[in-house]
Amino acid sequence: MKDTELYSKLLGVKHPWSIAEVKLDLDKNRVDLWVEDASGVKYPCTKCGKLVPVYDHAEEQVWRHLDTCQCETYLHARLPRTKCPEDGVKQIRAPWSGPRSPFTLMFESKLIDTLKECDVTGATRLTVVSWDEAWRVMEKAVERGFARKQMRVPEKMGIDEKSFAKRHNYETIVCDIQRGTVEFVVDDRKKESLEKYYSEFTTEELAEVKAVALDMWDPYIAATKGKVPDAEKKMVFDRFHVFRYMTEAVDKVRRQEAKVLYAVGDERLKGTRYLWLKNADKLTDGQQAQFVALKHVNLKTGRAWAIKETLRKFWRYKYGKCAERFFRRWYFWATHSRLSPIIKAAKTLNRHLDNILTYFKHRITNATAEGINSKIQMIKNMACGFRNREHYKTAIYFHCGGLDLYPRHEVQACA
Ligand SMILES: [Zn+2]
Repeated sequence: MKDTELYSKLLGVKHPWSIAEVKLDLDKNRVDLWVEDASGVKYPCTKCGKLVPVYDHAEEQVWRHLDTCQCETYLHARLPRTKCPEDGVKQIRAPWSGPRSPFTLMFESKLIDTLKECDVTGATRLTVVSWDEAWRVMEKAVERGFARKQMRVPEKMGIDEKSFAKRHNYETIVCDIQRGTVEFVVDDRKKESLEKYYSEFTTEELAEVKAVALDMWDPYIAATKGKVPDAEKKMVFDRFHVFRYMTEAVDKVRRQEAKVLYAVGDERLKGTRYLWLKNADKLTDGQQAQFVALKHVNLKTGRAWAIKETLRKFWRYKYGKCAERFFRRWYFWATHSRLSPIIKAAKTLNRHLDNILTYFKHRITNATAEGINSKIQMIKNMACGFRNREHYKTAIYFHCGGLDLYPRHEVQACA
């Protein structure tokens, strides 16, 4: 078999295209292939679709293809230009590549696979492309995914905020809890931020929303009430956010108490922050022992902790009515604790109780989209390579958008 024939088969080059020349440079680990089109072939005019003859050929272009053995492989071709009596001279596109891409479709797909598995810098090392080239492929993949995506309102929606970079920058992230995908990323966490998402849909479409998991964050609440019909019955304050209020209150009690104790030379609370915040079963044996000892001395922090931990039971109830009864008892205890951060947090929860109780109807939390949070964390960890916020958003859509990212062959019938 001739080398041109072998490569034609390997690359799946079809009529009217064939490989005319193969050049192997073992010193550079490089294979160059020249592809030519058969003469006398007619192509569809890119405007009207009528089969028209070739007028001339454009300048030679080069595309990076998948490596053959250990060699970087490049395709060269001069693409034909057609002349249509109505539309004039038009450039025919290469069937092996997307418009204005320096890569063949197969190489681009491989690059997308690699980008899914590691960060951009890692992908550039594995595939030997530049950072800008890899990034452009990622952006194009997301654009392509959105062009193919059918925008529809998720039945069960999660709204969350994610910080960006080290400063107090936030992005609002809307998830489809059932599909586990990020549907929308927008700057800030204002009312208008979330409204931007809702305004993509009609009121009828938004009426299809069955439940929305969100933080007790007034701008999100206001946006949801303003746009989603019957929002009061559909909003569920996310249990992890709710619980975080209590955790923060315990930490405030600890800080206040530690200061008082420290002033009289008592260092029992020194270095114990972690013990009060973590789930008890996540502590090491040594920490457990220290914690048990601390719990049994009469400290305010210990009482605050007990109040917080008892609240965990709330979400274990089967029925909302029982959970509400439990909450009333707990609330009485919390508000009579003489621990002002705990009282304040308990009052906040009480004010929002109606939409904490909706959990028992809808049973949703933002953590349902479990994979999303860990993926976004991974994206944040590698975000040091991102030059701006748009890049951060693109990466979130790329990794979490559930988009159809891959380029596809456009079949051009010729004769
Ligand atoms: Zn035409």
